[in-house]
Amino acid sequence: MTLSQSSFKKIKKIVGTQACTRKIEDLALYAYDATAITHLPDAVVFPENASQIASILKLANQENFYVIPRGSGSGMTGGSIAIYGGVVLVMNRMNRIITIDTKNLTAIAEPGVITKKLHDEVAKYNLFYPPDPSSSAFSTLGGNLAECAGGPHAVKYGVTRDYVLGLEAVLPTGEIIQTGVQTKKGVAGYDLTRLLVGSEGTLCVITRIILRLIAQPETVRTMTAFFPDIKTAITAVTAIIQQGIMPRTLEFMDQASINCVADKFETDLPTNANALLIIEVDGSLPQTATVAKEIEILCRQHHAIETKIARTSQEAESFWKARKSISPALFQYGPHKINEDIVVPVNKLPDIVQKISELKKKTGLTMVSFGHAGDGNIHFNIMLDKRDKKKLKKAEKAVEEMFDYTLALGGTISGEHGIGITKAPFLTKEIGKVELALMKKIKNIFDPKGVLNPGKIF
Ligand SMILES: Cc1cc2nc3c(=O)[nH]c(=O)nc-3n(C[C@H](O)[C@H](O)[C@H](O)COP(=O)(O)OP(=O)(O)OC[C@H]3O[C@@H](n4cnc5c(N)ncnc54)[C@H](O)[C@@H]3O)c2cc1C
Repeated sequence: MTLSQSSFKKIKKIVGTQACTRKIEDLALYAYDATAITHLPDAVVFPENASQIASILKLANQENFYVIPRGSGSGMTGGSIAIYGGVVLVMNRMNRIITIDTKNLTAIAEPGVITKKLHDEVAKYNLFYPPDPSSSAFSTLGGNLAECAGGPHAVKYGVTRDYVLGLEAVLPTGEIIQTGVQTKKGVAGYDLTRLLVGSEGTLCVITRIILRLIAQPETVRTMTAFFPDIKTAITAVTAIIQQGIMPRTLEFMDQASINCVADKFETDLPTNANALLIIEVDGSLPQTATVAKEIEILCRQHHAIETKIARTSQEAESFWKARKSISPALFQYGPHKINEDIVVPVNKLPDIVQKISELKKKTGLTMVSFGHAGDGNIHFNIMLDKRDKKKLKKAEKAVEEMFDYTLALGGTISGEHGIGITKAPFLTKEIGKVELALMKKIKNIFDPKGVLNPGKIF
């Protein structure tokens, strides 16, 4: 299914010569994502509307080539990599926020909009779009929808899917469809919107998005709590949730991630702290003051060494700096990272933390954990040099053991990064035979020739 020269000529006619390339140096720029797995596509195309994408997909069906949608390439599971070659559709020219409807609290945007741009634009109207993957400064709405991205706010506000009302999308066969509603409610027919969100670019190319917005909370209070070890920190997390307190973020970092950030960046992290919680509450001024105090007391009851409530937005920003610096800082532990985003019910967090510590001891591998503790989502990383085959094998075994344990606790193997290619071998651990067959049938109905984003999920 390699792209022929004549098919490429036809693509040029569809999008214009300036909007497609086969130069090797250009292909290399779109050959990888955050997994560091690489595969050169046959061509890269920058469409500017749904009808160009529809024409390309119709051509792909007639002339047998693959099409792979791509946002910013920040995906953690290889979803936008052209593993079998084909045409990578880079969506970043479709980057307009079309409307922000302040009367109905909705926004309509194109998929290439950078998430933070939407956050900033709606904030000008005192509105709030809660989904906030830590990559929001560079990931796109299209990529967020395709992966059903989460983020720190998910603990209180839910994930991307909870804010998508409707879509315009191009099917793999080239038809342009409209799904969902622009209203608060709508139950006409099957919920295709919910099916397409989280479909990892395998069922459609999203070309327009109708989003639900909410009002900006009046105030946000940011605080940190440092603990002598990860177990006490996690017990504090479960205590906060069990108390019925609903912080808007409840993030944690283990000792390895604190050390790693402290080594790499200038921070004032206490040297005797082995675990950190970053907590935010929002609401009215008196409400946040009371809740922040309650959380502080709970943390201290659970052996926090130090707690701090930010007094200014700059101070709050500095609290977040440590959390947001983890990913780039981690690579000092090894050139490669195996990054899993398991989720367990919150009351099982202490078990999973115990398991990670056992696995560390058993394997001698460098493991770093951080993440969205409030919703049970742990980013469990193994740092290594993948050229060391012995270590790689050990790490792969550890990941599998971790997945088995997560599932036994009633969890899932992916909270927000998707399955892509890296988790595909493990999908059958979580999804039953009948359900998997149903999913494959759905894929087949949408994409009978298998031209869209092949080799992903299954
Ligand atoms: C430092 C860092 C922090 C991160 N933090 C988080 C986090 O907190 N939460 C989280 O959920 N993720 C996080 N991620 C992962 C990643 O940023 C998200 O998955 C993000 O949604 C991907 O967006 P993207 O634009 O980069 O998409 P890409 O990586 O380009 O693509 C991802 C998938 O979406 C598909 N796709 C892209 N655009 C479209 C479209 N228009 N139509 C159909 N399919 C499309 C692709 O085919 C691919 O399967 C993080 C990544 C990094 C590097």
